[in-house]
Amino acid sequence: MLVVMNQQATPEQIDGVIAAIEKKGYTARPIPGGQRVAIGVLNNKGAMDAAYFLGLPGVKDAIPVTKPYKLVSREFQPEDTVVRIGDVAVGNGHLVLIAGPCAVESEEQALTIARMVKKAGAHMFRGGAYKPRTSPYSFQGLGEEGLKILARVREETGLPVVTEALDHEVFDLVEHYADVVQIGARNMQNYSLLRRAGRSRKPVLLKRGLSATIEEWLMAAEYILDGGNGQVILCERGVRTFADHSRNTLDVSAMPVVSKESHLPIIVDPSHAAGRRDQVIPLSRAALAVGAHGLMVEVHHAPEQALSDGAQSLYPWQFEALCRQIQSMREIFGTFQAMERPVAS
Ligand code: PEP
Ligand code: MN
Repeated sequence: MLVVMNQQATPEQIDGVIAAIEKKGYTARPIPGGQRVAIGVLNNKGAMDAAYFLGLPGVKDAIPVTKPYKLVSREFQPEDTVVRIGDVAVGNGHLVLIAGPCAVESEEQALTIARMVKKAGAHMFRGGAYKPRTSPYSFQGLGEEGLKILARVREETGLPVVTEALDHEVFDLVEHYADVVQIGARNMQNYSLLRRAGRSRKPVLLKRGLSATIEEWLMAAEYILDGGNGQVILCERGVRTFADHSRNTLDVSAMPVVSKESHLPIIVDPSHAAGRRDQVIPLSRAALAVGAHGLMVEVHHAPEQALSDGAQSLYPWQFEALCRQIQSMREIFGTFQAMERPVAS
């Protein structure tokens, strides 16, 4: 249930509604908006009676929320969330380009790539220090040394860094070094990790699970918001299908669906969707055309020597070409987003 207050509602009336909600044993979550204050009612076990709320002073409306996700939904918050990482903004028309290698391999490798992607137009740097690998014999990442390298990359280039917290054990460390903490596809339903991310003060990049429905994905984001962290960026990275011409299948329909259902920004990782370099640029264009708020792309200066995901990593000159293409498409994206933006009620 969403209790919408009158525009003229006094702070005392708002407090009164919160007290009335808590008296029933529910949790009250005030959501300040530009035009109005709304109060989300959470933790109800069964159906709620709208009449109870409608009778309270200062209340304009009590709207049942039909979806299982509440805090991430447009019903709770009609305005787009903008996630801010230093000077970088993501969402509501702000487009972010994140680029870097799959894994941090050495200081020289990370710095070389970071300088190149920054020059091309990237706003943030990516690179895994803890890698989720199918085989226990594959390169697992440099661990804390990788995080320290990322901090040096930020220091030298000024680019904020995003890197994955693979499990609960390393979360504190990753949170300490990273500007954005990534929760990977394989961990999308790791509920204790999601709860930990909810307690974090750092923005979270939540990847879609390999076979997750959009509802499951939004429920995962709900865990993070419920924990008190509203700075969540969703990342579509392709899902498993029967197709064998690509590593996964990029679900381009996720963008319009998520943007309708949720106020959270959504970006696309075309690299893990494709698994092959030649599909990355076309998929990037498609992602932006359907309303993605940004891209996260794997780039390596010597992909044939990369310790992971070399086959899907763009050469720096290709990333540069992609940035140029995006630049010339930008005006059209702005028009698309304005056309698609839901009208706030
Ligand atoms: C990654 O971005 O480094 C990664 C491992 O991606 P995913 O979790 O989407 O497979
Ligand atoms: Mn990778």
